[in-house]
Amino acid sequence: DSPAAGGATRSIRHTTVEPEDDVTQFTEYRRLKATMRQMQLTGCPNPFFTVHDGIVGDTTLIDGETYISFASYNYLGLSGHPEVSAAARDAITRYGTSVSASRLVSGEKPIHGELERKIADWIGVDAAITMVGGHATNETTIGHLVGPEDLIVHDALSHNSIVQGALLSGAKRRPFPHNDYEALDRMLTALRPQYRRTLVVIEGVYSMDGDFADLPKFVEVKKRHRCMLMVDEAHSFGTMGRTGRGIAEHFDVDARQVDIWMGTLSKSGSSCGGFIAGSQPLVELLRYTAPGFVFSVGMPPAQVAASIASLEVLQREPQRVERLRRNSRLFLTLCQTAGLDTGDSGGTPVVPVITGNSLVALRLSNRLKKDAINVQPILYPAVDESAARLRFFITSEHTEEQIRFTVDRTQHHLQELQEASPATLAETG
Ligand code: PMP
Repeated sequence: DSPAAGGATRSIRHTTVEPEDDVTQFTEYRRLKATMRQMQLTGCPNPFFTVHDGIVGDTTLIDGETYISFASYNYLGLSGHPEVSAAARDAITRYGTSVSASRLVSGEKPIHGELERKIADWIGVDAAITMVGGHATNETTIGHLVGPEDLIVHDALSHNSIVQGALLSGAKRRPFPHNDYEALDRMLTALRPQYRRTLVVIEGVYSMDGDFADLPKFVEVKKRHRCMLMVDEAHSFGTMGRTGRGIAEHFDVDARQVDIWMGTLSKSGSSCGGFIAGSQPLVELLRYTAPGFVFSVGMPPAQVAASIASLEVLQREPQRVERLRRNSRLFLTLCQTAGLDTGDSGGTPVVPVITGNSLVALRLSNRLKKDAINVQPILYPAVDESAARLRFFITSEHTEEQIRFTVDRTQHHLQELQEASPATLAETG
């Protein structure tokens, strides 16, 4: 027992005492090193922290060599677009590289409000607020809007930032089976009456599987149980719907039916940062009270200006969204025809090729690299071992030739790897 602040006595139980100043003794560190040793044994180079030079679009530059790129979410090719880069440069000239304060205090610039107005109008809601990171936006918003008296029910495949926000909030947290609005409905029937507020969180497009939520059904369920519905549009903003307005446009749902729209500016927004869009009172509450906004610096001028310019190009050139959709569908159809397992991917710019084995995924990405194709393997423990995969991010800038070549090589190598014995897999490096 140890006396806690305020004189109360709190019981703290340690299972094992770790030397506090030696990170190498942390269980987590040992586990990390064991995973890295296993990866080394495969003979494949470490697939993480690859250094990319230049602008990553349909191709990327690694160690002076050009690769077809499927590992970055520059979906609309707007990062590196001359107009977007020029806007960022102009903003630096005018406002500097940092706003040097929380916006609440003295960091507010005219372009902050301009970007937020544009986002709210584009989505079709009253107001929006931007923050410096997408992950931080989810964490602070979810962590702040609900508390220990409340319930958060989120999709079982929710992004880490949603889970972290839920943990931070102290609310009761219950995942529902992926995309299963009927299971959600049943859970809410049982649980909703026990809690003050209930927040349901889903994503527009799921970042590992490339499938998406049936938004009208979720809206129906949330209305029946009188809950708040939050939709993370990280991968659907700029990619879904005829003109890229997102999942609401895809389903022709009035955006005001959703209480909280969340999005990131790091993908189609070709910058970085996150936003929340919704009703005026929601945004007002966050502007004055969300810790990750109030106690954090405002988005830097270059990032704000780049996102404004990206939105302008997107609105002027909806053909980018159409090209992206055509490329995504072509990639998916070719994979399916080749007998590759793409899970539930639904013609979105995220297409997994599931190998069901981390070693095979690692070696497949390594072989593709030798064909000048760069794609990231997603390995256990990031996903279950049976769900190990390559994840392809498609962009509007890929050519049909690049797509056909990539699917062809993927099918060829995967077949060879699956026919090889596990021993051969480990030896051939
Ligand atoms: N939500 C989802 C669904 C994501 O996939 C990500 C990251 N890609 C984030 C939030 C966090 O966004 P950011 O990387 O811009 O911080």
